[in-house]
Amino acid sequence: SIVITGATGQLGRHVVEALLQRNVPAGEIVAAGRSIEKLADFAARGVQVKAMDYADAASVAQVLQGASKVLLISGSEVGQRVDQHRTVIEAAKAAGAELVAYTSIANADSTTMKLAAEHQATEAILKDSGVPFAILRNGWYLENYTEQLQGTLAQGALAGSAGEGKVSAASRQDYAEAAAAVLIAENQAGKVYELGGDHAFTLAELAQEISTAANRTVAYQDLPASDYAGLLAGFGVPQPFADILADCDLGIARGDLLVSGSDLRTLIGRPTTPMSDSVRSALAAV
Ligand code: NDP
Repeated sequence: SIVITGATGQLGRHVVEALLQRNVPAGEIVAAGRSIEKLADFAARGVQVKAMDYADAASVAQVLQGASKVLLISGSEVGQRVDQHRTVIEAAKAAGAELVAYTSIANADSTTMKLAAEHQATEAILKDSGVPFAILRNGWYLENYTEQLQGTLAQGALAGSAGEGKVSAASRQDYAEAAAAVLIAENQAGKVYELGGDHAFTLAELAQEISTAANRTVAYQDLPASDYAGLLAGFGVPQPFADILADCDLGIARGDLLVSGSDLRTLIGRPTTPMSDSVRSALAAV
């Protein structure tokens, strides 16, 4: 079977759908997560739905029994993820999986973003584990920006600390199709993919695109990282995570989320979703 962890999340849901679209038999797909009530629609289509908590090694081992391939979607509990991911990798190894694909972060070899540390540690665990693995080094999601569009429009400004740095963002759907392609393909052990959108953009260019599409003036407002973190905290983001997000913008300024090459478009067999498309469809939904 092919096990998708984090299938209850937004990326994982797209991966399960992409596997079904590519004619993987539903019964061979195991969709796993904690909130499995979110997977009732997949269960109705014949997908195996199983509860697992990364923090509960027994539940992980049970779900991974008989797995041939595992997509380990990085967890969302920043600070706890290294141990959680190790649990999944060890269970996959014990189950004799032929491939563990892991959703890492762009430029994991060189990035100094704080958010990257847990991904770098997970890549090291994979390498030491002896399990055959592939690494999907995902760049930024376009949705990181377009899901905030209502707030951006209300402020009349897009705030950040990325300066003139460019980010190679792509949609969750794009990254999910890439993950599905790797899970379906043969001979993926040892592959490392650097995944990002075809056309990198600055946050000023993003603000310009929002202005044009919404027919409103939205300017990019570049702030010192501590001010930007303070702004995010004011919007309700917990301070430690606000600090991490502001640090990510400093990473963008350095080019840490700029992806060269064309691994993503090659894996999905089409151009990546343009930023302008993502802005326009998000505006249509506002
Ligand atoms: P979501 O927050 O929508 O999904 C996170 C998934 O992780 C959920 O399925 C959740 O399961 C699962 N999860 C979290 N903790 C545990 C746990 N302890 N045990 C089992 N499952 C757990 O994120 P996305 O789908 O949008 O993104 C996937 C991952 O990519 C994120 O988790 C994060 O690591 C990373 N990410 C990347 C971004 C980027 O721009 N590249 C931006 C944001 C995140 P459940 O809901 O059932 O608890």
